[in-house]
Amino acid sequence: MDVLQLEAGARIFSEGEPGDHAYLIGSGSVEIVTGRDGPPVVLARLGAGELIGEMAVIDDHPRSATARALEPVELLVITRDVLRGYLERADPLLSRLLHVLIARMRHAQRALVQRTDDVPSASLEDSAEGGEGDVFSLLIDDLKIRQALAEGALEPFFQPIVELGSGRLAGFETLVRWRHPERGLVMPADFIPTAERSGLIRAIDLHVFERAARAVLAAQGAGNGEDTPFLSINLSGSHFASLDVIDQLAAIIEDTGFPPQRLKVEITEGVLVAHPERALAVIEAIHGLGAQVSLDDFGTGYSSLSYLHRFPIDVLKIDRSFVVGMAEHPRTAAITKAMLQLAGALGLQVVAEGIETDGVVPRLRDLGCHYGQGWLFGRPMPADAMQRLVAS
Ligand code: C2E
Ligand code: CA
Ligand code: CA
Ligand code: CA
Repeated sequence: MDVLQLEAGARIFSEGEPGDHAYLIGSGSVEIVTGRDGPPVVLARLGAGELIGEMAVIDDHPRSATARALEPVELLVITRDVLRGYLERADPLLSRLLHVLIARMRHAQRALVQRTDDVPSASLEDSAEGGEGDVFSLLIDDLKIRQALAEGALEPFFQPIVELGSGRLAGFETLVRWRHPERGLVMPADFIPTAERSGLIRAIDLHVFERAARAVLAAQGAGNGEDTPFLSINLSGSHFASLDVIDQLAAIIEDTGFPPQRLKVEITEGVLVAHPERALAVIEAIHGLGAQVSLDDFGTGYSSLSYLHRFPIDVLKIDRSFVVGMAEHPRTAAITKAMLQLAGALGLQVVAEGIETDGVVPRLRDLGCHYGQGWLFGRPMPADAMQRLVAS
């Protein structure tokens, strides 16, 4: 850790210099002055615990002010690498916003000194760094998805999940689709990544659940208890930042009257790895609502097996890659068999995903796989088609 001790009156940095370091004031006080091109203007007097000199380090522009010690000061030196490290890890949109703000700040400083009312025109361009010009397109995409959500254009589709033993319809997974006026049906891969980054995915997931719950209950013959098809909803990892999602799910269960024992909440392994304690709390709270928890895309990431005994999961969804691979590759078949045996030993229900042909069905059934999902049984369909299927 580099510490600088300076006497009263010493210059810390000067206007016009390149900015290599920022400083955290340990003790003493510092004055920031600008006005090389006119009468000096004191911009700030800062003391212990405050940061100075960060602007030029962040935006690579020459320093637009001079810093002087007003009394003996102790400064902690923060190198460019350290500060830049934080910026590189930040969301590109956030770091772009920071650059825009610094550019505005520099213009405001100049206007203060020159007492001009010039309207800055180049500020936003100045702050754009190569290759980052499209970060605002993320913001625009986000606004479009937000509007689609508000207009009801994000709707649940329903993919059947069948009991492999009897071939009977057991439930549906809800999968979101954007019914776009020009682009037609937009698939989740085209908008979920943006919604994940902006956090909008949380509102989308809840909206999809609410509409799906109402649509299933409105289906003739759906009943309102044990014979209601179960709904398996997707819950993004970004819900795990807090426990709010539990109250929100509870409110939808209450409003719609959907029987919670017919609800399965799909989460992915990534959540268990990233926030193990929060994930455990959320899983237990979902149980508290009377619903079940499914581990989605099982087998595709991390050291899956170790999570099974740490988290009280109810359902395993075996990823499509295993189902597809087991027909051709003995090793994949062996792994799938081991997963099913383990699930059996732990008393978990299993759903095999992505079943496109009937060849694998008898093998999966013999290995003890309860449920199947895939094009063989039905593609994701809109609510009216789901309702016809339930009524038939
Ligand atoms: P997922 O949760 O693993 O969903 C299964 C995906 O596999 C779906 O893609 C489904 O249409 C597709 N699929 C089902 N059966 C077959 C098959 O037999 N063959 C093939 N090739 N594909 C099959 P989809 O609908 O495009 O969704 C993609 C992903 O987007 C989902 O993967 C899920 O991670 C995410 N997603 C979809 N809807 C939502 C949502 O409402 N909320 C959240 N958080 N994520 C969602
Ligand atoms: Ca899923
Ligand atoms: Ca899946
Ligand atoms: Ca998937």
